Amino acid sequence: MRDSSIPILEMKNAGKIYTQGARSIEALRGANLAVRKGEFVCLIGASGCGKSTLLRMAAGFEAATSGDTLMWDVPITGPGPSRGMVFQDYGLFPWLSVRDNIGFGPRSRGRPRAEIKATADHFIELVGLQNFAEIYPHQLSGGMKQRVAIARVLANDAEMVLMDEPFGALDAMTRERLQDELVEIWSRTGLTVLFVTHAIDEAIFLADRVVVMSPGPGRIDNEYTIDLPRPRDVASNDFNEWRRLLSSQLHSHHGRKAG
Ligand code: ADP
Ligand code: MG
Repeated sequence: MRDSSIPILEMKNAGKIYTQGARSIEALRGANLAVRKGEFVCLIGASGCGKSTLLRMAAGFEAATSGDTLMWDVPITGPGPSRGMVFQDYGLFPWLSVRDNIGFGPRSRGRPRAEIKATADHFIELVGLQNFAEIYPHQLSGGMKQRVAIARVLANDAEMVLMDEPFGALDAMTRERLQDELVEIWSRTGLTVLFVTHAIDEAIFLADRVVVMSPGPGRIDNEYTIDLPRPRDVASNDFNEWRRLLSSQLHSHHGRKAG
């Protein structure tokens, strides 16, 4: 067992400066964040406040230029299967069935055929796609594709899923259905999720904790523990209170000079 006092992901005074020729952009300054196993954490903030940068640092796609980025207390030096990024279009392989998409990680690691099938079937069942194992991605709904993408990450031994505005391009109804599905999969699997959004309602609906960021340079302003019971009612008074609070937090940055 892991020492439960150690966060799965931790940033200590982490900063990121991008340099392009003579120009440099401070995308993130002094970020402190600890995500515990099983938590659902949402990053929220205006465009350009460093949300994607922070997520890519957690994934290991970008290195911090100052401070520390740790997983289980060990510096993150690059991408690894323990942190799976789920992309907006889910990145499924169209030529592979649901089972083969989910078994892709174990197969590319050279696991024995029987083990690949057992792993794939285990995660197919976990996300409730037993009847769809032989189906191809183009035959699946958006919600089912999301399930496959998450199962694929889990089959690759991921302990943490990173999602960057995955529902940003969707209509409101589809988005709400996928949010419900995501909460359901999360509570069933005990997964840890770090989720970027700029939609206040989405953050309050999904998260155990909302981390508010602001631009110029990008940084973390505040964190809020959302103590509402699940399933959450977006029409309740308590939800509205959170909506008001986070909205005033986010809008307090308007009018300030962006950097
Ligand atoms: P967000 O996801 O919150 O919109 P980003 O992390 O994408 O914010 O960007 C933060 C800042 O860093 C922005 O000013 C953006 O233009 C800049 N930036 C992001 N990625 C790069 C990059 N690869 N090279 C240079 N600048 C970047
Ligand atoms: Mg972004």
